[in-house]
Amino acid sequence: MSTEQIDVVIVGAGLAGLSSAVFLGMNGVKALVIERREGTSILPKARGANPVTMEALRTAGLAEAIHKAMPPGKPAITSVVSESLTGKVLYDHVAHRPDFSMFSPERPGMASQARAEEALLRRAQELGAQVRFKTRCDSLAQDDDGVDLALCDLDTEQTYAVRAKYVIAADGIRGSIAGWLGIGTHGLGAIKSVTAVRFKADLSQWAGDNAMVIHYLQNPALPDGAGVLVSTDYKNEWVANMSADPQRDEGGMREIIKIMTGLPDLDFEIIGTVSYDYGHRIADRFRAGRVLLTGDAAHVMPPTGGQGGNTAVQDGYYLGWKLAAVIQGKAGPALLDSYEIERQPYAEEVCNWQVANLAERRRIDTLAERIGAPLDHATLLFGYICPPNGALAAELGNEDRRFEHPAQASGRPGARVPYVELEGEDGAKVSPRHLLGPWFMAFTAVPGGAEAARAAADELGVAMKAYQVKSTAPLHAGEQQTVLVRPDGVVAWRGADNAGIEPALRTVLCR
Ligand SMILES: Cc1cc2nc3c(=O)[nH]c(=O)nc-3n(C[C@H](O)[C@H](O)[C@H](O)COP(=O)(O)OP(=O)(O)OC[C@H]3O[C@@H](n4cnc5c(N)ncnc54)[C@H](O)[C@@H]3O)c2cc1C
Repeated sequence: MSTEQIDVVIVGAGLAGLSSAVFLGMNGVKALVIERREGTSILPKARGANPVTMEALRTAGLAEAIHKAMPPGKPAITSVVSESLTGKVLYDHVAHRPDFSMFSPERPGMASQARAEEALLRRAQELGAQVRFKTRCDSLAQDDDGVDLALCDLDTEQTYAVRAKYVIAADGIRGSIAGWLGIGTHGLGAIKSVTAVRFKADLSQWAGDNAMVIHYLQNPALPDGAGVLVSTDYKNEWVANMSADPQRDEGGMREIIKIMTGLPDLDFEIIGTVSYDYGHRIADRFRAGRVLLTGDAAHVMPPTGGQGGNTAVQDGYYLGWKLAAVIQGKAGPALLDSYEIERQPYAEEVCNWQVANLAERRRIDTLAERIGAPLDHATLLFGYICPPNGALAAELGNEDRRFEHPAQASGRPGARVPYVELEGEDGAKVSPRHLLGPWFMAFTAVPGGAEAARAAADELGVAMKAYQVKSTAPLHAGEQQTVLVRPDGVVAWRGADNAGIEPALRTVLCR
């Protein structure tokens, strides 16, 4: 039998794998996604897409689908630290959250992981991806030109061969691919074992009508003095997360749920349990030759703060345009090095942030000491600066600075293009973050800058949208500069010389 040949095989159809398929499809590459399960996840796992994820999903035409997939209730979030669902509230995260509308045009999405995966699957298929469920990757081996995979059809137990130019390992927390490639991990490892108990109960009278409700519980009567109570996609279905205890029976879980709700006479039905570890593990490398790690395969974090799913989707977004450009011959293969260079430092920080949240919300002082002080929320989401050896034409000075508060943004290469409005030559408003898509952008107040940017892009065969504006000062650049922006909204270069645009674009594309 002849070996099937394909540009990209993605192993795993979770948030990381499906979003990679979507963003590759959006950039013109049709991937093969394989997944050993029968379908997408039905478990109530990650909740909520932050504004940065929503910006990425909007470029793929998915923002409205994610908003529509919100659970029943008012489009609002309750996230508090409390003694119980009905007890004293100790801290309200939403009340203390900074106003993110200054930094992004998008509001958060509230779809659960199960609903988000359904939407991503549909969109990936619309964009040309093939998705094969009940298919397991049993091995892979790479040479200079490609990767050979052994895939097993789980219906027939037949194994067949596929050869890919590149593989995305989106095989999650229990994935094997990183291990097969000899990629180690670092971090705190397994932090805590928890049991998630799904139960049915009508709690609306106490929980209110918000679509998403999370209570981080601090109560000495609970095992280890803490737990988490979370709403799901179904009005009367909840998940109670408690410290794991192999000796605990259903009666024990019921007692804990009564303490968590603060309702000793609550009538409820337990419908399932799953035990898992909160972990902190970052892969030592995100790339081994033609294999790239995304999502939990690259970085494992506890769920406190809700960034695990977001980071998985964003990995696909930041990788998609690069891998497509390399496959299409628009960029040199070295562009793929920048995936690890740019994403690993972000993953380190976000994993630490979630652990710091866990330490604080569960009052684990020893953990807090080990992880140090976390970044503030706005800086974590909007303030990352890619390292100077990433896919950008770097500026000298402050090379080691990885984060800045978005209210004091520098606009330097490697940072997000800020959420601001420029004035076009015709007086029309030009808002860079509203214009993101599978193309480079240039915002220029240099005479002839837009033509120079288009000519450079034509020369290199990449898509470019160039806007002549009255001033580039709102981008934290000089009054009369050109600011070159990558397809993922990261500033690639800025300068006043039209002749500098093409070399900058060449640097970004590793040509
Ligand atoms: C109970 C629970 C609750 C959680 N709650 C939250 C939360 O509130 N907030 C948050 O941000 N995160 C949460 N998480 C974490 C979040 O779910 C993950 O960060 C997210 O799922 C990562 O997506 P992924 O695509 O990388 O991995 P996954 O969703 O794990 O997907 C990996 C896929 O790869 C498949 N696979 C693995 N190996 C192979 C193979 N050899 N061949 C074929 N397929 C393979 C697996 O079957 C799986 O479907 C939770 C996780 C769990 C388990």
